[in-house]
Amino acid sequence: AFHQTPDVLKPRYVRVNTLKLDVESAILQLGKHAKVQKDGLVPDLLMLPPNTDLHDHPLVMNGSVFMQGKASSMVAAALGPEPDWEVLDACSAPGNKTVHLAALMGGNGKIIACELNEQRLTRLRQTINLSGASNIEVLHGDFLKLNPRDLPYSKIRAILLDPSCSGSGTTANRLDHLLPSYDATDTQDAERLNKLASFQKKALAHALSFPAVERVVYSTCSIHQIENEDVVASILPLATSLGFQLAAPFPKWNRRGLPVFSGSEYLLRTDPVEDKEGFFIALFIRKDPEIKEES
Ligand code: SAM
Repeated sequence: AFHQTPDVLKPRYVRVNTLKLDVESAILQLGKHAKVQKDGLVPDLLMLPPNTDLHDHPLVMNGSVFMQGKASSMVAAALGPEPDWEVLDACSAPGNKTVHLAALMGGNGKIIACELNEQRLTRLRQTINLSGASNIEVLHGDFLKLNPRDLPYSKIRAILLDPSCSGSGTTANRLDHLLPSYDATDTQDAERLNKLASFQKKALAHALSFPAVERVVYSTCSIHQIENEDVVASILPLATSLGFQLAAPFPKWNRRGLPVFSGSEYLLRTDPVEDKEGFFIALFIRKDPEIKEES
């Protein structure tokens, strides 16, 4: 713990909302105040010096750039929707990844943003308004209760599933690098993690059951194997039977899943200390969905 790079030395990241501003213009405008570089791995992500304060920068206030960390910005990019696709964001508030999807799709196609919690819907709508996206439909409801066979979902080609999780990958950071912030031997924590994992498994199985879906991303901001590799491993037989395979998001990224099952090398992890936030990403792809989009 004594050899970790202090937070003050880690870069700040912002994601350019290409619905409102192109990357080169963002670099020029932000470059007036600080040295700006492209991240190089995640498209549209810019790196600024540590501790750059952008909270009230005009580009942030008007939604031209979003203050979104690198790990969080990898999720929608890993899903990689085609511009004309119909896409479902299953657990969407406050909507950072929803509006990232909209930008990646160039404002085309259609995104359904599902959210269960009424209070969080307000934040979701604010994020969407700020982004300027006009191809997002907000759906107040339980993702698990959506019927994949219903007409509105029959053409969904990609699903981003970023369900409720323990948040241990980001709280650990706030707690001054006291890792892990959850004690798996503590019965209350263990019970909470088991409940979360059980929801996460149901939600992942549900996402894979949409008839036309070709790409599914499962992500958490947890560092716990039980919410990450274990969820994927337990759903893998079902995924395989439906024609899905694990694929490697950002193959050049060297932090992969914990080696607890064959295929975990396809998974992506970020480190809560070294990468500032502990995220987990799994990508499922199938080439032959049950229902093919008629051309
Ligand atoms: N993807 C979001 C973003 O990047 O801004 C963060 C999503 S947060 C980790 C998980 C969200 O899922 C919460 O807002 C929670 O209220 C919502 N949620 C939990 N259970 C749900 C369910 N069954 N159906 C839909 N949304 C659900």
